[in-house]
Amino acid sequence: MSFNEARRRPANDRPIARDGEYVLYWVQAYRRLSHNHALDYAIKCARELKRPLVVYEGLRLDYPWASERIHRFALEGMRANRAEAARIGLQYWPFVAAPEDPGRGLVRKIAARACMVVTDFYPCFVVPEQTEALARKTDRQVIAIDGNSVAPLATLGATVSAAAHLRPRIHKQFRDAWAHRAKAEPEVASVPVRSVEAPFATWDGDVDRTLAALPIDRSVASVRGVTGGAPAANERLAAFLDEGLARYADHRSNPSSPEDGPSSRLSPYLHFGHISVEAIVAGVLARAYGTPDIALGSPGKREGFYGTDPNVNGFLDQAITWRDVGFQWHVERRLDTASLARALPAWVQATLAKHADDPRKHVYTAEEWEAAATHDRLWNAAQTELARTGAMHNYMRMLWGKKVLEWSRTPEEAYRTLVHLNNKYALDGRDPSSYTGILWCFGLFDRPWAPERPVLGSIRYMSSDNTAKKFKLDGYLAYVRDLK
Ligand SMILES: Cc1cc2nc3c(=O)[nH]c(=O)nc-3n(C[C@H](O)[C@H](O)[C@H](O)COP(=O)(O)OP(=O)(O)OC[C@H]3O[C@@H](n4cnc5c(N)ncnc54)[C@H](O)[C@@H]3O)c2cc1C
Repeated sequence: MSFNEARRRPANDRPIARDGEYVLYWVQAYRRLSHNHALDYAIKCARELKRPLVVYEGLRLDYPWASERIHRFALEGMRANRAEAARIGLQYWPFVAAPEDPGRGLVRKIAARACMVVTDFYPCFVVPEQTEALARKTDRQVIAIDGNSVAPLATLGATVSAAAHLRPRIHKQFRDAWAHRAKAEPEVASVPVRSVEAPFATWDGDVDRTLAALPIDRSVASVRGVTGGAPAANERLAAFLDEGLARYADHRSNPSSPEDGPSSRLSPYLHFGHISVEAIVAGVLARAYGTPDIALGSPGKREGFYGTDPNVNGFLDQAITWRDVGFQWHVERRLDTASLARALPAWVQATLAKHADDPRKHVYTAEEWEAAATHDRLWNAAQTELARTGAMHNYMRMLWGKKVLEWSRTPEEAYRTLVHLNNKYALDGRDPSSYTGILWCFGLFDRPWAPERPVLGSIRYMSSDNTAKKFKLDGYLAYVRDLK
């Protein structure tokens, strides 16, 4: 499988420094050492330049919403990468910032010794600015590689107003992209072996000791029973294939505890790059059909493209189409830094403006939202689940978002509340899907619905009463009540 050039996104136009000591792969988003297009590309460059490869992965202390929860998950991933790098013979330089050693200028320093820098293309959170800063300041070539999904984002065209418009484009690209997927076993042996001394003390892999010593927000605690890192991600995928996939199409929407529901719970691992969507797709297809190389259906339809199994089609449509929609929007619009007005379609803006002065039945303060102290027991349950477990059932997440819009003074205030709560507490937050998920509650990718209602106008309405009528909620509510 050769490299797909559409994944290459040069961050500057500096030439390759042929006298450099090594090729540097700067891990920012794909925090794993297999099924990784950026790693494959860095290996290819190192082989061609006849230089060793150095893999650098760092963890800052000052990223937005930094907490013990997020830090532990990332550190567990780095600990796993450290062990895996030793196993496969990769030079891996992990760095964990501390107040006495924040690592300022460190990437630039190690880039200065390199022939070139390969990094991850990720259109959200701190990554674009970090890449841009290095690309501007260094005299080395910096190439970002898009390994976000199966089809390279550059092949998907302009942003769409509905997922239905992106689906056929993805399907058309899928066959070729799948034939060029990243390697399950990176070709480390093809790279010259030469040990290079790191110009800093590399992290020793002790997660507990490191966390205990860092001044970090401990009010957002680590999630018990959820471990970060590629091995844990692979275990979660295996458990989903055994227990969830066969029930996915029929039961995904029913609010339930994670153990009772069929959802994969892979989104934190996808967000941290501990697993690639390609590895997930390969696992799902192999489990359902005995091989990842199936005969694909005709492009465009939600059913039947990934073989005949409705569970496979339902799941892969979420993991590919819906996830890609978020990435595609971020590449063009940077939703995480854009204003609400820039993100929302005209019909939504018009209907929200028309209802701007509608009286709100309920309005809450930031503290009340955060403390799950509204009048609505379902909303409170969803927020409690998020705060305690770092996750929320998908159906409840939609209801949760819609209600904040309905019970806030303005749409802008609702948006700020949702982004804050989602990104602070959710392990999968701070992701393109965080913003498109929240904006879906405001009408993005949707259409106007009748009847027109107070506050929401013609934006699709969801209510706790209807949710309670539609589903048996006792199990979900008991699960949340018992959360420590
Ligand atoms: C208000 C709101 C906020 C959201 N915030 C996030 C977020 O911060 N991070 C995040 O990854 N997703 C977010 N989503 C989308 C969705 O809720 C989660 O991806 C999903 O619940 C994750 O659980 P899972 O891994 O068990 O999903 P599964 O049902 O097992 O799906 C598999 C994968 O498909 C992708 N996926 C599934 N549903 C969606 C969707 N609607 N949009 C985009 N991708 C999807 C995810 O990568 C997921 O891991 C949000 C949705 C809403 C309504």
